Amino acid sequence: MITVTNHAEYMNDYNPDGVYYTTQGCNTCKFIKPARSKHCSLCDVCVSRFDHHCSWVNNCLGKKNYKFFLCFITSSAILCAYVTFVVAIVYAYIVLSEGLINMKYEAYDGQYYPVGIRFLSQYMLVRQPLLAILFLVVLFFGVAMTGFSLFHLYLVLTNQTTNEFYKRHYYGKSHTKSSRQSRIISSRTEKTTVKTAKRRALNRNKEISSRTLADEVVTTEKSPSPGTRTPYYKGIWRNITEVMGV
Ligand SMILES: [Zn+2]
Ligand SMILES: [Zn+2]
Repeated sequence: MITVTNHAEYMNDYNPDGVYYTTQGCNTCKFIKPARSKHCSLCDVCVSRFDHHCSWVNNCLGKKNYKFFLCFITSSAILCAYVTFVVAIVYAYIVLSEGLINMKYEAYDGQYYPVGIRFLSQYMLVRQPLLAILFLVVLFFGVAMTGFSLFHLYLVLTNQTTNEFYKRHYYGKSHTKSSRQSRIISSRTEKTTVKTAKRRALNRNKEISSRTLADEVVTTEKSPSPGTRTPYYKGIWRNITEVMGV
């Protein structure tokens, strides 16, 4: 969380790359946004190294709490995998210890047929419904949390935030050669919008006037591509240590 008192400290963290982050003022907080920060409308604060606002933990994820979020989703994925495994073992124990796999059932035609996986699953669902519900729930969340953890592992290794990932892919698709004309038009519109927004900010805060006037003209003409290296990439090990704060 960036406040007026710790603002100078966060300004030194990263340099604006000129693509995702230019020198922009925050109209609400009344200061220049540090690179990689974003104002969260829900928390109503600027957040350093903003990743995303998580509705599950009801908080923003940024520079200082992202590592705890990583531990949370990774441990949740491991816990779900563990419970899935334990429930599967319990089911297997019941089936094997009672010899259910070798049993036969009487069909409508009066004949006896060996139970297959489908029939056995239905039988176990009726016999142990709570265990079956638990199995399905932890299996679902286990798959979801594992995918989520792997996605965030990828973000850590490439030193990008969720916010930057979506910016990168959004701009990467919209800034193609075929849409060059629309890019030029939208770039001009962006310049006008940025100029207007910044002029309003300048009127409120004289402190940021000289810097923003110079920077507002230099809006991005570069186009980030999903295939190229991320702007804050420092090498895998340094990316990890940056996130973990060691
Ligand atoms: Zn702000
Ligand atoms: Zn938030």
